[in-house]
Amino acid sequence: MIDLPILDSHMHLDPRGASRTTVESFMKEGGTHLFVIHKPYHNIRIEGEEDYGRAYEQTLELAERARSFGVSAHVFLGPYPGDMVQLSRRYGVERAKEIQLEAVDIALQLVEEGLCLGIGEIGRIHFPVEEKLQFACDEVMSAVFRGCRKAGCPVQLHTESIEDNPDLMVHIAGILDREGLDRAKAIKHYCGASLVQPDINLGMTPSVQASRSNLKEALPLGQDLFLETDYIDDPNRPGVVMPLDTVAKKVKWAYRTGLMDADMHHRLMVELPGRICGIDMEKAAGSDR
Ligand SMILES: [Zn+2]
Repeated sequence: MIDLPILDSHMHLDPRGASRTTVESFMKEGGTHLFVIHKPYHNIRIEGEEDYGRAYEQTLELAERARSFGVSAHVFLGPYPGDMVQLSRRYGVERAKEIQLEAVDIALQLVEEGLCLGIGEIGRIHFPVEEKLQFACDEVMSAVFRGCRKAGCPVQLHTESIEDNPDLMVHIAGILDREGLDRAKAIKHYCGASLVQPDINLGMTPSVQASRSNLKEALPLGQDLFLETDYIDDPNRPGVVMPLDTVAKKVKWAYRTGLMDADMHHRLMVELPGRICGIDMEKAAGSDR
């Protein structure tokens, strides 16, 4: 019987999704905490900064609904990097960047007000685009890092893969250092096991896809890491990227196979979120931001 918290560090909720069933499936397996990450929604078209404000409201409401089922939910809000593509097609890259910078300010304001925990997912576009779009994304990322330093909050990064851009981690570490944000406060979402190695993540905190093969390779390294599903709650793609009960199931599996013990579990799911995100993981569920 595991009596420590179990956290999924990167998942999404959708207004069309089956949030009660899925959140309950997570809790049934022993899951206790969710990082609910903002995402683009089918019902809110982003045409200006006020649309981001409305979309953030929706994420906050979805998280509140999840809490009403008994889970702890902490929210990350921010302009999704991929939005830069359609925004720039419509308004040009300068205006697109401006809209996203405004959206960053709104998200930081909500952090300030205690309504969300951090900024995310923000970063770079994960498919090939014109370089000027990635430059614009880098400027948005700089502004986020600056704001996170002031607010003392974490950020969740969405980027291209290190296979597609071998210089990626050096590039991001440079921006973090320039803006003075502690590298560990940058949570790199969608990591494979290789990014758990400190000489590859360069001090950023990896959030690892909770597959058996990743756990087998990553946990014995003894490094800090989060575990995620990137569940998107889309009724047309059920169980994508991974079903929401995966992290809880894999933690129990890791105990059974000897990959994890209570000390490691405490370090990864109590101490690490406490240190990086400033949250008390042992507090009772249902009252989080
Ligand atoms: Zn995601």
